[in-house]
Amino acid sequence: MSNITVCARFRPLSSKEKKDSRDNICISSLNSESFVFKEEKEECTFSFDKVFYEESMQADVYEFLALPIVKDAVKGVNGTIITYGQTGAGKTYSVEGTSILECDEQKKGLLPRVVDGLFECIKSADELTKYTVKLSMVEIYMEKVRDLLDLTKDNIQIKENKMQEILLSGVTEITISNPEGALQSLSTEMNVGSSRSHCVYILTVQLESTTDKRVKTGKVILVDLAGSEKVEKSGAEGKVLEEAKTINKSLSALGNVINALTCGPSARSSHIPFRDSKLTRILQDALGGNSRTVLLCCCSPSPSNALETLSTLRFGTRAKHIKASPLVSCREDRHAKKHGDITLTKDESCDRIL
Ligand code: ADP
Ligand code: MG
Repeated sequence: MSNITVCARFRPLSSKEKKDSRDNICISSLNSESFVFKEEKEECTFSFDKVFYEESMQADVYEFLALPIVKDAVKGVNGTIITYGQTGAGKTYSVEGTSILECDEQKKGLLPRVVDGLFECIKSADELTKYTVKLSMVEIYMEKVRDLLDLTKDNIQIKENKMQEILLSGVTEITISNPEGALQSLSTEMNVGSSRSHCVYILTVQLESTTDKRVKTGKVILVDLAGSEKVEKSGAEGKVLEEAKTINKSLSALGNVINALTCGPSARSSHIPFRDSKLTRILQDALGGNSRTVLLCCCSPSPSNALETLSTLRFGTRAKHIKASPLVSCREDRHAKKHGDITLTKDESCDRIL
């Protein structure tokens, strides 16, 4: 069984898309787990653990995919939430909201809700445990890890300790004592994040038993990935091309790791390629260990973005590793071959989706 929950989220059409697209949107809902995706004359059906349509609220997304992770974190269990999709698909909106100090309660994203949720859970927890919440924030740009809480640390090394835990060597960790404090710290560095880098937020909950002094930790990691879009071969040059290649490589590495992990024991290779990118290395504990992982595939509903949306949905489908589902039509397969798929190299032995 896969330990990955895969969800899809469609944002509302942007005003530009509303003007551009003659026919309105390229999906039609079947239920809260499945929808039909239409592209030109072709149609195929996708199924996920949950589909959030354009009218879905930030609170719905939080409750379904983050609240269980928050509840586990205060018990010392790790969890990771990853947002995937092309630039403009709603990744940052899902993670942060429109601004981290969002006054509009409804628009608050996952990150501020997770912070609130952690402190809520701690408030109602037993008194035999002393809780400490810490926050770190890094970005991965051109395969370099930069500390977003101290920009002078621009080449953080990833190390493994004796317990085989992944560590960001020397990264700034601030202890936060209430949600407001966390949000203040986050907001000061929030503008630094770019759609060409992966942004990683790490909330660590330390649980110290007041009786025997034993310490456990639970981590919640939120990842706002760089845009997954393909860069036009003709247009991209120099820095933009280099950025695109690096992003492509790390997203492929993520796909390969997810693929290796979600294959059944018979097909699973003993080697999981965590070391192929900084992104997968940082997520090694989260993905490989006994933790909950949620992949939120963010999509535009516009026909003008249909090919990128298809690529995102296919990434999600592979992560879920749905066994030959009658819902996934074979026409979708032809599409993928025609348009290529930047996100995963194929491992026939465990590719049972198609
Ligand atoms: P990404 O981070 O994937 O590049 P953004 O999160 O910045 O994309 O979203 C692009 C635009 O769409 C932003 O203006 C954002 O506020 C808006 N948007 C994204 N998702 C939603 C949503 N579910 N509801 C309303 N607006 C959204
Ligand atoms: Mg973004």
